[in-house]
Amino acid sequence: MEEIDGSELPARKAEFLKAVYRMGGVVRTNDLAADLGVSPSTATKAAAVLADAGYLEHTRYRGVSLTGKGEEYARFLVRRHRIVSLALSRFGLSSEEACLEARKIEACVSRELVDRICASLGHPMMSCCGPIEHDRSCCPDEP
Ligand SMILES: [Zn+2]
Ligand SMILES: [Zn+2]
Repeated sequence: MEEIDGSELPARKAEFLKAVYRMGGVVRTNDLAADLGVSPSTATKAAAVLADAGYLEHTRYRGVSLTGKGEEYARFLVRRHRIVSLALSRFGLSSEEACLEARKIEACVSRELVDRICASLGHPMMSCCGPIEHDRSCCPDEP
């Protein structure tokens, strides 16, 4: 598996992948379109691009599901969002504000920076957005 550096996917594709991860299993592109507030044709195109890049598997007439690579990446995306969100909440933002602001900037945050923030916060296990999955390359086994 290639190393993730965080710059692989632009924000919209990343949000799309996260939505597939959140919904789980085989997801219909129409459901993704509704969830993300985009047109069905936009969702179909995004799914095709992510399938070409190896993140999704396309099941004809049924929808898309994550490949191993897609699932690993989606987990990184969720970890990145929650760490950025937690960091922002330390500046006095409410959970809701931190979550919203994190979504605007997280696509620009590299994996290296995510790990640095994680370390500086003491490898937290909980964000204002939910649990933070520990990353073996960053977080010690025993907190
Ligand atoms: Zn959030
Ligand atoms: Zn860590």
